[in-house]
Amino acid sequence: MIAINSIIGTKGVPSINPFELKPSLTNSKLFARDRNVCAYCGGHFHEEDLTREHIVPFARNGQDHWMNVVTACRPCNHRKGPRTPEQAHMPLLYAPYVPSLWEDFILRNRRILADQMEFLMAHVPKSSRLLA
Ligand SMILES: [Zn+2]
Repeated sequence: MIAINSIIGTKGVPSINPFELKPSLTNSKLFARDRNVCAYCGGHFHEEDLTREHIVPFARNGQDHWMNVVTACRPCNHRKGPRTPEQAHMPLLYAPYVPSLWEDFILRNRRILADQMEFLMAHVPKSSRLLA
């Protein structure tokens, strides 16, 4: 159980339900959530060729939130422009979701020990793309 202690045995953590907290949104975590796959063309890209795409654009009061962002390659993001997927006739190939803090931990840490990974994946919600 050393793996558990190394993950959640932190001092001074308030008694909160980690499943109710929303992890912060960063491009690298977004791309990891979406497995570097463009939501519009389905292509697989390197991080430098990907963008944070707002499903409902800022120009239409879209929010910078996990549920309004997907990974898109630069050509698709440019083609969609300040339009919704319906207006652009570019349906999403997958749905956005808010990662749990368990997933957030995984998304932030690319170097996780194998036994820690096994423990973490056991706590990932069934809806997670990380299980795919
Ligand atoms: Zn694309």
